[in-house]
Amino acid sequence: MVDTSGVKIHPAVDNGIKPTKPGFSGGELQCKCSSNPVRVKVGGQTAHNHVCGCTKCWKPEGAIFSQVAVVGRDAVQVTENADKLEIVNAEAPIQRHRCKGCGVHMYGRIENQDHPFYGLDFVHTELSAEDGWSAPEFAAFVSSIIESGVEPSRMDAIRARLRELGLEPYDALSPPLMDAIATHIAKRSGALPA
Ligand SMILES: [Zn+2]
Ligand SMILES: [Zn+2]
Repeated sequence: MVDTSGVKIHPAVDNGIKPTKPGFSGGELQCKCSSNPVRVKVGGQTAHNHVCGCTKCWKPEGAIFSQVAVVGRDAVQVTENADKLEIVNAEAPIQRHRCKGCGVHMYGRIENQDHPFYGLDFVHTELSAEDGWSAPEFAAFVSSIIESGVEPSRMDAIRARLRELGLEPYDALSPPLMDAIATHIAKRSGALPA
């Protein structure tokens, strides 16, 4: 058995995963600025929540994974201090809107209408004081944490801890999401009927 004691993934899952609340219909995200925080209203329940090891997602201080979910872009609305937001990289497929004050990413948006996930925004529900958001279901891009400086020798314990938490580790996205991407590509190429 791999010793998983002391392995930290993300504050939202390290002490147990909070369950999805049936009927939950959204809430407000707030950045970490002590004055004039950016506030974003999310008018619906999220989906496909997961922890992500990629180097692009915003992570809280000290965490080796982010926690990120999707929600329809029409449900996302900046309600306060929108002038503090900047796009991290306008060339990236997901345009992450970051607070210039505290660095927190408030939402990620896809502007390319041909992208498989066009229409969905990426949000970090831990920025909300409400409980009931869709619970994380899996771990994506696990091997990528090495790119952030995690020692490769720690990977066995980290993957074991993810499994203990019920977050199956994948080195890309989960199979349903990889299938959705491939289906989108096949319909565009004509390999599958549109
Ligand atoms: Zn801020
Ligand atoms: Zn990520």
